[in-house]
Amino acid sequence: MNGKYDIIISGAGPAGSTAGYLLSKAGLKVLIIDKSAFPRKKLCAGLITHKTVKLLERVFGESVDSLKEKDLINFESGSYEVFCRDRLITRRNITVPFRFIDRDRYDYFLLKQARQTGADVIEGDGVRALDILRNSVTTVSGKRYSADIIIGADGVNSRIRRSFLVDLFGREDWSGNLASAHEIFLSRTSVNKSFDHPALFFGYIERGYAWIFPNRERLKVGICALKNKNKEDILASFRNFLSDTGLRSAGEEKVHSYVLPYGSFLREPVFRNVMLIGDAAGFADPLLGEGIYYAQRSAELASQAILDIMDGNRRISKSYEALATAYIKLLRQHIFTELEYAGKVRDVMFTYLNRFRYLPLKILMGLLGDKPVETVHGIRSYKWMRRRAG
Ligand SMILES: Cc1cc2nc3c(=O)[nH]c(=O)nc-3n(C[C@H](O)[C@H](O)[C@H](O)COP(=O)(O)OP(=O)(O)OC[C@H]3O[C@@H](n4cnc5c(N)ncnc54)[C@H](O)[C@@H]3O)c2cc1C
Repeated sequence: MNGKYDIIISGAGPAGSTAGYLLSKAGLKVLIIDKSAFPRKKLCAGLITHKTVKLLERVFGESVDSLKEKDLINFESGSYEVFCRDRLITRRNITVPFRFIDRDRYDYFLLKQARQTGADVIEGDGVRALDILRNSVTTVSGKRYSADIIIGADGVNSRIRRSFLVDLFGREDWSGNLASAHEIFLSRTSVNKSFDHPALFFGYIERGYAWIFPNRERLKVGICALKNKNKEDILASFRNFLSDTGLRSAGEEKVHSYVLPYGSFLREPVFRNVMLIGDAAGFADPLLGEGIYYAQRSAELASQAILDIMDGNRRISKSYEALATAYIKLLRQHIFTELEYAGKVRDVMFTYLNRFRYLPLKILMGLLGDKPVETVHGIRSYKWMRRRAG
């Protein structure tokens, strides 16, 4: 490994590995640095939607069948339920199933894909500092690497993002739109009931929701809600939810906690030659918190913008301004509208829920039929729930 690269990527989650894969495959000299050694644990409910499957097909040439053969998709379900506390709002069968992955395996697989295209990978040594003037990063162990372009894919607490002044990147309300999440994992054998489909529960917490998502061997049970805008104690609400659903007695499983972006996305996640993708830029759905797709999609868009400003000799042939313009334009076209409209739907949902609870939501879900689930899958846009092309 030598110290000078075309691209350095901090973070090897779905965002970092997808960008690493695409850029290395295009012939660029790429270094991916992650503070953890893989396979590593990542707190997540592991739901992937149809739009993620399409992305995996487009970028990595994987199909649902090949993902199942590799044991990456470990469970799928053709139905779902939505509750307001313990009252059922809707139970529907769906033609496009929800699919579930285990993040340890999924993220490790993506990183291996990037490595196979020739990307250098450093594991177990995080980025400690960014030197914007020298285009370099220094790792915790003191090694320094430089590159023409540096990508921050290092998650919601991104070291790269936090290396800059607060006002950069067009953040309007970053901390006001972060959610706290708590999750437990229950082995299926420890639970009396059979859960073979995902279930969402509103009404246990203001501005958030709880879930039970099935995987092959275990259930992922969690809650997430806006941190600063909740008067309630989110952990206490989670325990309340577990008691109501009869899961609290299933065992004294450890509660894992983390934060996630929940409407806090950055409008200008690029400064000079430093770009942010995935959770580092807050790209997660503000209604459901889906972030795997947006991590990988923003990686795809950032890679496209980078390749647009590089010439055949891997040299930057256009200005940094051109890089920013290209990346932000692509984000506006493919991500921002969805996140903005998902945020509007969320505001309406949470306001109605707070005021009227069960009945209006039941009526609304009845009227909308399959549209909400098609929207989550990306078959429709959040913008007026219009069907999307392709
Ligand atoms: C409880 C919970 C449940 C969720 N459930 C779902 C779900 O079901 N479906 C879904 O789509 N999304 C879900 N999400 C959101 C999803 O997990 C994230 O949006 C997604 O992981 C973002 O991917 P990323 O690559 O941007 O960041 P991450 O996956 O967070 O990866 C960042 C990487 O950067 C590394 N890193 C951090 N700091 C440094 C550093 N200084 N130097 C080098 N490396 C560093 C980390 O080790 C990590 O590997 C959930 C989130 C939570 C908290």
